[in-house]
Amino acid sequence: MDYVPYAVPFFLLAILIELAYGVIKKNNTYRLNDAISSLFMGSLRSANNLIFIGLGGYVFYLTETYFALWRMDASSPLTWVFAFVVYDFFYYWFHRISHERQIFWASHVAHHQSEDYNLSTALRQTGTGALLTWVFYIPVFWIGVPSYVFVSVASINLIYQFWVHSEHIPKLGWYELLFVTPSNHRVHHAQNENYIDKNYGGVFIVWDRMFGTFKEEDENEACIYGIRGTLNTFNPIWANLHIYVSIFKDMWNAQNWKEKIHVPFARTGWKPSSLPYPESNDNFNPETFKKYNPVVPSKIKIYAFFQFISMTYVGLVLLESGELNYQQLCITIAMMAFTMYCTSLWLDNKTGYLAETIRISLCLLIYLVTYQESVMTQISSGLLIYSILNLGVLPFINRAKI
Ligand SMILES: [Zn+2]
Ligand SMILES: [Zn+2]
Repeated sequence: MDYVPYAVPFFLLAILIELAYGVIKKNNTYRLNDAISSLFMGSLRSANNLIFIGLGGYVFYLTETYFALWRMDASSPLTWVFAFVVYDFFYYWFHRISHERQIFWASHVAHHQSEDYNLSTALRQTGTGALLTWVFYIPVFWIGVPSYVFVSVASINLIYQFWVHSEHIPKLGWYELLFVTPSNHRVHHAQNENYIDKNYGGVFIVWDRMFGTFKEEDENEACIYGIRGTLNTFNPIWANLHIYVSIFKDMWNAQNWKEKIHVPFARTGWKPSSLPYPESNDNFNPETFKKYNPVVPSKIKIYAFFQFISMTYVGLVLLESGELNYQQLCITIAMMAFTMYCTSLWLDNKTGYLAETIRISLCLLIYLVTYQESVMTQISSGLLIYSILNLGVLPFINRAKI
């Protein structure tokens, strides 16, 4: 059973509590633009999971049905404990390879782009994980873990990882030796030379200690969060695709086949020597590093927050309700993605009038043709009110003068 959807309201509540705690303690770790961008990506990931039935599920089914060495008893607590530990072992290797090899980094990078570190970062998840992640878990089915147990322990593992994304929790004594904690996961999200590509565990940090990737947080070296080669946009679509595009570009432009084929499987950051254009430089300098933080007027912040509330409502209520058919689901998710893109234009301090006009026109078109069945009256009138509200406020938002 997938417990994640049940945990989401608690996640959002915990974010509010962490935000309030930070404000009271005068150590706020949230910025509106970065947090909205992370939470948008979390919604997109959950929404995508509803429409992609996935090759992975089919391969798991085949492995479990025809190739499993034996089948463990799902009613035995031992099976659950075994599955929990084994899952985390394979998670370690999935996560490590996701950092070390370009084609897997292309998907996982989404979790690391935030330059802040707080509970909203935990929900910043890749929207393209369904493409390849499953490859790493085939052995779990092969050794006989039942699919029901697998889905359950995978979701518990993911839920565990939520709370470690916080700057407010210090080192936790003996617990640091065995488990992933806020301190050792802060190191994982840091791009400092001493910290990068360390601490890959999901629940247990022992795998990092065993396989030589553990690094303790040093009180004298503050973590600088984010990725090398910063994204410099809050666009959630580009955030999900930029490394794929860079891989494709390098494959296209490499001058020999050996290098073309090597690009996706190469160590992250590797560039073909035969490229006709200069390699992009990794210009990270801890002394001069500045977070990407375009200054925008308060009106834009309020508008972005309004879109965030609207999209959270759509994500939580509409998509989870099961009232939409497959076509309506796909259209709704496409419109969510487009709305997030338009919001990111404003947060990036770009002009979004054209994109917004297209978006609102599409919303009205969808209102007219897609949700007109009788059971849809509530959704349909909600969409109409939302479109009119958008139309009403659009003339009043404008970007900051540069
Ligand atoms: Zn990672
Ligand atoms: Zn993380």
